[in-house]
Amino acid sequence: MSGRHDKNYMDVDSDSGGSYIADDPDFNEGGARGTKGKGKKAVRRKETFKGKSKEQPYAWEASYTRSWDTVQEDDTGSLQNSVQDLLTQGRRRRLLAPAAAIRRTIIRHLVILLDLSSSMMDRDMRPTRFDLMLEYTREFVVEWFDQNPLGQIGVVGMRGGVGERIGEMVGNPQDVLRCLESRTKLEPTGEPSLQNAIEMARASMSHLPTHSSREILIMYGSLTTVDPGNIHDTLDACVRDKIRVSVVALAAEMKICREFCDKTGGSFGVALNEGHFKDILFELVPPPAQRAAAAAGPGKGSTADLMMMGFPTRLPDSSPRTLCVCHSEMKSEGFICPRCMAKLCDIPTDCDICGLMIVSSPHLARSYHHLFPVKAYTAVMELTPEERNTRLKMCYACSSPFKELQKTTITAPGLSPLDRYRCPNCKNDYCADCDLFVHDVVHVCPGCG
Ligand SMILES: [Zn+2]
Ligand SMILES: [Zn+2]
Ligand SMILES: [Zn+2]
Ligand SMILES: [Zn+2]
Repeated sequence: MSGRHDKNYMDVDSDSGGSYIADDPDFNEGGARGTKGKGKKAVRRKETFKGKSKEQPYAWEASYTRSWDTVQEDDTGSLQNSVQDLLTQGRRRRLLAPAAAIRRTIIRHLVILLDLSSSMMDRDMRPTRFDLMLEYTREFVVEWFDQNPLGQIGVVGMRGGVGERIGEMVGNPQDVLRCLESRTKLEPTGEPSLQNAIEMARASMSHLPTHSSREILIMYGSLTTVDPGNIHDTLDACVRDKIRVSVVALAAEMKICREFCDKTGGSFGVALNEGHFKDILFELVPPPAQRAAAAAGPGKGSTADLMMMGFPTRLPDSSPRTLCVCHSEMKSEGFICPRCMAKLCDIPTDCDICGLMIVSSPHLARSYHHLFPVKAYTAVMELTPEERNTRLKMCYACSSPFKELQKTTITAPGLSPLDRYRCPNCKNDYCADCDLFVHDVVHVCPGCG
């Protein structure tokens, strides 16, 4: 189906494809990244297809993929191999990640476009595309705010041929989750309209300052769109406004969706099954690299805008009840804007009175780790006699003893037979569990401080 779509449209715009990438220096990096990512993704998709075609050609032929089916026992009935494979995969992915510092946007603004058309009631993903999308979107929102505490998310639905504002742009995960809570209010109906929804999302981001990112994430289950005008005008407007559009398609690749992603520097993925849907969705959680920085040249790229932020005073719960400026409610707890002394309910937010960005220092610290990721630890293959005497016999972080070298231990590339992983900076050794914990959760090496 997607192949036929492509060919029909290809004749019309084949000469316009990629012109933005070539002309605009700002888009150079995005363009290069896009092509590389596409190649990698294509290869990976092919592999998955090959693997799938053996037992399970289509997602709807198997009711559920059980997690214990994907784990294979070895000859002796042990699961050790499978577990180690999983660990190695994670470790290898981390080693492949670019070590150089990338300039990233930490103040992000994202509008999630949910397809609420009748095609979302299809049961090719269990229980339905719609229920699965809601479930994953809720998880995505929680994870996204955890990694990007200074970000804001808005939600727009596509149904009945119009865009429908479901949630305003807010910086509080609870508010976003509340608008995704009610399944009945979001009941899918009618046809989706890409253009209407994207225009609505674009309008809600038009006032944003240049230092924040503007992103649109579309979850699309339909193969058609009902648009009032020329959607290519909308695409041009998105390119002009530097809005990055990413699409997760649940049915098949559509030419116009792919074009939106390619020209705006976003990513495009078609979900093959439930697990893959989640994978490509969660790839969008870390902040994107800033496109302008590398292309602008050494002089321009190294300068950064300074921006004003306010650190508020927190009112104790026992303080007298006063009105808040955001909801006009009588409350005792809250935060005081340091500039205009207005009382706000939640941070981070922009002050409703003076527009100052209000954050707390933990929020800043939490966003910081994306800019300076902890370097991947190297697996220690063996210790020299001298090292054997001087090195600590236990993990530097959790103090659990390391194992002695066993000849029978199965080794995979990237796995240490000694269970020692060494930080390239502070040269301390850590156990495998601490290695994972440091890189996935705390994002700070305990030895480096
Ligand atoms: Zn309030
Ligand atoms: Zn203020
Ligand atoms: Zn440890
Ligand atoms: Zn370290």
